[in-house]
Amino acid sequence: MKLTLCELEKQLRGGSEIPCAEDTEITAVRIDSRLVRKGDVFFCVDGANYDGHNFAAAALKAGAVAVVTSQHMPELDGKPVIMVRNTVAALGKLAAYWRTRSKAKMIAVTGSAGKTTVKEMLAHVIAGKHSVHKNFMNLNNQIGLPMSMLEATGDEDFWVMELGISLLGDMAELGPVAMPDMAIIHNIGPAHLEGLGSMENVAASKASLFKYLQPDGKGLCCKDHTLLWNAASELTEPISFSSQDKRAFYYSELLETLPDGTGRFLIKAGNETAETILPTCGSHFAENAAAVTCAASLLGFNLQEIADRLNTVQLPKQRFHCHALGKWTLIDDSYNANPLSMNKAIDTAKQIAKERPLVLVLGDMLELGDDAVEAHRELGKKIAAIKPDVTFYYGKHYDDVASSTNGSTFVPVNKPSEFLNGIHELGLNDAVVLFKGSRSCRMENYFHALNNEV
Ligand code: ATP
Ligand code: MG
Repeated sequence: MKLTLCELEKQLRGGSEIPCAEDTEITAVRIDSRLVRKGDVFFCVDGANYDGHNFAAAALKAGAVAVVTSQHMPELDGKPVIMVRNTVAALGKLAAYWRTRSKAKMIAVTGSAGKTTVKEMLAHVIAGKHSVHKNFMNLNNQIGLPMSMLEATGDEDFWVMELGISLLGDMAELGPVAMPDMAIIHNIGPAHLEGLGSMENVAASKASLFKYLQPDGKGLCCKDHTLLWNAASELTEPISFSSQDKRAFYYSELLETLPDGTGRFLIKAGNETAETILPTCGSHFAENAAAVTCAASLLGFNLQEIADRLNTVQLPKQRFHCHALGKWTLIDDSYNANPLSMNKAIDTAKQIAKERPLVLVLGDMLELGDDAVEAHRELGKKIAAIKPDVTFYYGKHYDDVASSTNGSTFVPVNKPSEFLNGIHELGLNDAVVLFKGSRSCRMENYFHALNNEV
């Protein structure tokens, strides 16, 4: 990182008196005082569990060349303190500045389900020819995005960053930090309704990323989600891709699930087609592949190059990973759940099962606000329609789901051992088993319990 303390102070317009004569180069920006090394700058972020201001002195002791605070801290008088109104906003401001200093093209990805997947796939394709920086794991909010950007050397050709929103107004904070050259919105669904309110608001909030495109920037949007497409079209002329309409210029579909649990996908750009193997058997990942095909084609990759790179992509764990174990197929989709990804996952598990037994091991879908009860009743209807052999359910919405499963076998479980006993009692041993629920349900524990046994 080649950013000086004077530059930082100028950007944040703080009121301290740091002497700029011998300007110091900042080695890194930190929000965790335990990671601070000599030469770093520490931002005091007031988080859910800790207030970073309590660690400002420790950061200085560890060698921080400055601390950024939003409070006057008399005990730090005489120390290099930069006081701002809001330290998270200051972090965003600094990242936005760093973005303008960097030569990298910024590609921003947003959507209700699959952002990390699309980000990882696209970054991997681009890395075949160019240098790329991406956000680490899932660091996609008002803290994670700027921290990810500030970790870049600034010399990369591309930055591929996912942007996650959960409240109205979040995009208005993330967009100006990202200022994308290319923005991709690959889907919307009923996620984060607690903060966003309605599907119309989800569509408008996601689409508003296009407001922050650079003047010659490109907006890419999945045309299969009508509300999203309409909202996006009000802001720009989006370039479309699809996983539903075979006639679309950029298109993808799952052709076949292979015995090892991977999936053979078709990707298409105009009249050309190619095939690629992805480490998932989820047909809904075609939406992600279509987004990546569209973006990479526009960046100058030919279709075979895209397919070849995708053949070697490693997707983050717990995103519809299919494990073919003897007669069993275990689908670990335990990373997270909202109604969009839940429905897709159940439909896809059903397609994979064909005539084999289907077992669902599900947990609550959280952060749905007033829609939570209705969304879980809808899940019950979905289960009734799909008719799995059995559904094991963990979470406080058990009764809501149960109210509409219409006689389907629906078993509450509180821990993995209960699920194991249940599945063994039923004598199912060649089933397709889907594990899915919101992050805090930790449905991976159920997956591991069965995976360790079979
Ligand atoms: P987060 O909001 O936590 O950052 P994300 O949008 O980054 O999530 P992923 O982490 O890639 O999404 O995947 C989250 C869940 O969504 C996983 O269960 C995954 O299988 C599922 N998923 C991935 N792509 C799609 C898609 N196109 N449609 C529906 N579900 C998807
Ligand atoms: Mg993510």
